[in-house]
Amino acid sequence: MAVFSRCSTAATAAAKPTAAAAATFSYLIRALSPSFSSSSSTLDPETDLNRNKPAALGVLKREPKGRNVQWVFLGCPGVGKGTYASRLSNLLGVPHIATGDLVRDELASSGSLSSQLKEIVNQGKLVSDEIIIDLLSKRLEMGEAKGESGFILDGFPRTVRQAEILEGVTDIDLVINLKLREEALLAKCLGRRICSECGGNYNVASIDIKADNGRPGMYMAPLPPPPQCASKLITRPDDTEEVVKQRLRIYQAMTRPVEDFYRSRGKLLEFDLPGGIPESWSKLLRALNLEDHDDKQSAAA
Ligand code: AMP
Repeated sequence: MAVFSRCSTAATAAAKPTAAAAATFSYLIRALSPSFSSSSSTLDPETDLNRNKPAALGVLKREPKGRNVQWVFLGCPGVGKGTYASRLSNLLGVPHIATGDLVRDELASSGSLSSQLKEIVNQGKLVSDEIIIDLLSKRLEMGEAKGESGFILDGFPRTVRQAEILEGVTDIDLVINLKLREEALLAKCLGRRICSECGGNYNVASIDIKADNGRPGMYMAPLPPPPQCASKLITRPDDTEEVVKQRLRIYQAMTRPVEDFYRSRGKLLEFDLPGGIPESWSKLLRALNLEDHDDKQSAAA
């Protein structure tokens, strides 16, 4: 656990990561980090007009082939980060790296960390910055060895300290802050089901929020599993009502400030999900100046 031991000092230190922590992370990320720096770019004229969008969108539009994206998804538990990050990862050909998945893989491995992590995760608490950076570093290192480049991070950073370490070692171009009406978040977590065999994510909740006090209604259809997964569905142990409420509280306390961290750096794209995947996916693509040809074709079929 080389990174763990170095970062444990860093995590207790002040805002800037120590040289050792930065060097370790930097070594792992350097291969994923192209020489291009988003902060030195000039804005696309269209983006320039649309000032509530981060500059990175202009970059993406101008250089669609020259660079693999380094994006982050933020948002409360249940908002759908995994769903949209995974779709974008397929579309853009970059890995979708969810730190929650890394934690669950570690739990399943019954390694030395496993019992310590189980208690933390099942109570809805955050794993320490050191452990999560260690897991992420190993995942990046593995990807580097396979020739991966770029990434969409989901569930990291979740504390300002994690954001500072990441910002200290690589250029994150864009942070997409997914937002969904609070009434829907708990229901979406409680309805989440995972195929124990293929890991596919589904949802049995049918969310129908009626229009009220001038606010429009919202409908989110269930996301049923395909027949081969239907008999293998499991519920995450941390998707109980009590634990989800705790995770939402922790998001407010620990992760909400990460939004401000990126907002102040001009990297945050706020995205209000209008409903389920059919409405939200096309709207998200438009917000990102992207097109999904497969989606268009299947819609036209
Ligand atoms: P998720 O699948 O993103 O909801 O993550 C599941 C659990 O893994 C969280 O409730 C935390 O216990 C842990 N976890 C995932 N990512 C992080 C992170 N960046 N920092 C700390 N703990 C994390």
